[in-house]
Amino acid sequence: MARVYNFSAGPACLPEEVLKQAAEEMLDYQGTGMSVMEMSHRSKAFDKIIKDAEADLRELMGIPENYKVLFLQGGATQQFAAIPMNLMQNKVADYIVSGSWSKKAFKEAKLYGKANLLASSEDENFSYVPDVDAIEVSEDADYVYICQNETIYGTVYHKLPDTKGKPLVADVSSCFLSEPINVEDYGLIYGGVQKNVGPAGCTIVIVREDLIREGVIPETPSIMRYKTQADADSLSNTPPCYAIYICGLVFKWIKAQGGLEGMKKLNEEKAALLYDFLDNSKLFKGTARKEDRSIMNVPFVTGDAELDALFVAEAKKAGIESIKGHRSVGGMRASIYNAMPMEGVKALVEFMKEFEIKNK
Ligand SMILES: *Cc1c(COP(=O)(O)O)cnc(C)c1O
Repeated sequence: MARVYNFSAGPACLPEEVLKQAAEEMLDYQGTGMSVMEMSHRSKAFDKIIKDAEADLRELMGIPENYKVLFLQGGATQQFAAIPMNLMQNKVADYIVSGSWSKKAFKEAKLYGKANLLASSEDENFSYVPDVDAIEVSEDADYVYICQNETIYGTVYHKLPDTKGKPLVADVSSCFLSEPINVEDYGLIYGGVQKNVGPAGCTIVIVREDLIREGVIPETPSIMRYKTQADADSLSNTPPCYAIYICGLVFKWIKAQGGLEGMKKLNEEKAALLYDFLDNSKLFKGTARKEDRSIMNVPFVTGDAELDALFVAEAKKAGIESIKGHRSVGGMRASIYNAMPMEGVKALVEFMKEFEIKNK
């Protein structure tokens, strides 16, 4: 059976080379006589897998020594609670809400302290990123929170807010490893890996050491304390072993593509092809404000719900999968993460061209 072009927002497509290697190593991982799924997380073989994965991630992102890398479970959603629980020393935090994910994180933070809404773009259905120059960071804020790439609305921060020295916390679930970033601009960076890095089940947290404190909120479950996880090198309990192994393979794959610079170049080329077509189309229209558009998630509509549904159905027949938009935006969404090849975007644009001619 032929593989489809999978535009799912997550879990999403993985590099074919990685899947093939995982298949080859499925029954006998490097002479151990067992699958990575079957081995002890305390074994020598797994110790090397997790250490290599961390080393490769550090190299790819240029993560400084004074940041810890944690491989956790619970998804990005668990971090909506873990972040305030671990970081709210003064019980105050500032949130910028630019979509559903930051809105959920903001709501969760309110359970643990005073969460201030610095800015929101909900007035225009999150089609833009609030003006970061217009925000006023609170004197007593423990951190400033953003969702860097809003997966549903297809917007991204091209400029980070000036947090006046407060740690910046960023959910990068849907733009993880899509381009180089300066880790030192952040206090904490995190994301579920199932969008752009690996299979579901693992969440990576990159946190500056001075933010790893004991008992900020005393009721914080031990397992959700960064201190617990950092002290145990993410092995406080059984980590998501197989997901970590696949992430490690993906890190090596990204290195072979020229690292994050190479990914950025390819991702920009893919996005440009799709946006150029959208900007010139008489039928399709992108829904995010041009200046804030993401190179990872591209939502678009025809303006006619029936035509949108027809497009999704016909696309599926042509091997273009999971192109339906999120229900809060409607229409379509093409998630064009690292592992989506240029050929996939070309096939999508060709299909859209034909659909436009037929449905003028
Ligand atoms: C998908 C997503 C989440 C939720 O991730 P889970 O791992 O399902 O909890 C959070 N933030 C962003 C930006 C996402 O894209």
